[in-house]
Amino acid sequence: KLENATAKAELGRASWKLFHTMMARFPEEPTADDSLALRTYIQLFARLYPCGDCASHFQKLLEKYPPQVSSRNNAAGWACFVHNEVNRRLRKELFDCNNIGDFYDCGCGDDGKGKK
Ligand code: FAD
Repeated sequence: KLENATAKAELGRASWKLFHTMMARFPEEPTADDSLALRTYIQLFARLYPCGDCASHFQKLLEKYPPQVSSRNNAAGWACFVHNEVNRRLRKELFDCNNIGDFYDCGCGDDGKGKK
């Protein structure tokens, strides 16, 4: 089947949105189990990402820059950094990671997690 760049880009945008929003909701002070869950999620995301080329590039990126899962700030900063590495490879504009703070809002209010 032919590649469909529009569908590939749309999948990318949706995936990045979920990825960064998840980091924005990760605990500021995670338990060891929270951190293990996030690391596992990221590794499985990289393994199962539906675009095979993207997945193998991203897996190499994770080897070079292992997921930072020790706090929300570290996780969000790491995710912004690796997305920028993908942007760089695809010759896209880089995102200013100092502005990551309030950019990703899940819209879920105080749904019992006591955040945002
Ligand atoms: P996207 O890169 O999708 O970004 C969406 C929005 O996120 C931007 O508009 C901006 O508001 C914000 N943003 C941008 N940079 C950052 C950042 N660093 N941190 C936080 N927010 C940011 N496509 C390919 O063609 N080849 C690939 O190998 C490839 N690999 C991918 C690997 C992964 C894991 C993912 C999730 C996607 C991959 N994609 C790949 C898709 C590609 O990254 C883009 O999603 C797609 O090209 C659409 O780009 P876009 O310009 O709309 O912005």
